[in-house]
Amino acid sequence: MIYFLILFALAISPFALYEFLKRRRRRRLLSTALTPSQTAEIARAVPLTRQLPPALRAKLDGKVSLFLDQVEFVGCEGLDVTEGMQLSIAAQACLLIIGSDMWYDNLRTVLIYPGAFKSRTQRHSGYVVQEQDTVRLGESWGHGRIVLSWQHSEQGAAEAHDGQNVVFHEFAHQIDDLSGQTNGVPVLADGQSFAEWENAILTAFTTHVSEVSKGHKTVLDAYGATAHEEFFAVAVELFFERPAALKADEPAVYKQLAKLFQLDPAAWPDAAV
Ligand SMILES: [Zn+2]
Repeated sequence: MIYFLILFALAISPFALYEFLKRRRRRRLLSTALTPSQTAEIARAVPLTRQLPPALRAKLDGKVSLFLDQVEFVGCEGLDVTEGMQLSIAAQACLLIIGSDMWYDNLRTVLIYPGAFKSRTQRHSGYVVQEQDTVRLGESWGHGRIVLSWQHSEQGAAEAHDGQNVVFHEFAHQIDDLSGQTNGVPVLADGQSFAEWENAILTAFTTHVSEVSKGHKTVLDAYGATAHEEFFAVAVELFFERPAALKADEPAVYKQLAKLFQLDPAAWPDAAV
């Protein structure tokens, strides 16, 4: 019997050992504090982090440490990626998941361009495929890759209450994609009702599309009317940057996002409308 157990242990050990070490490394990183200069840089570059209640702020260090360990940053068009850039993007990404156990499981690479960049897209019309270049500020891909304009990532963080943040937008797509599809329906929180989510989000989306088609402005960016996944991403931007405005105009959407992220940013001190 003992020989059988030893053979069994040897057979499973490489995988078990890998998982054990991975979990241990993850636990260690999640309890790793940032240095005072890193903390100061995040507070300067991402002012929204200064509004976090102390219990949430304490979690930011560990999540940023884990993020920096997992993700490779690549500069494009000759951009020299600095530690400040990495900290800013990591802090913005981790702000979205500061209240929950969500994690960017698939994310491996963040490509950073100095400014807006061209992306080649394909348009299918019958048997004809047309390729065209589109200028973008950010992109999220389903295979663990995010592309960002540094100019707009930096500006989006600095202007913390204008409701527009390209890093929040692209990482909202990554969160959405954790369900296996980027379709505006993320994996919901434990106990969160799918029926209530669908009812709140679809009702708000339908109204938004109707208002935008009439040329009316709503609290949400018009881009949110282009697709369900874009509605989710622009709602996430607003949830963090103008929570009181979203709560006032779209209370059901606010409530669902608060349940999803397990956060109530409208109650954070000095939260702007
Ligand atoms: Zn988008």
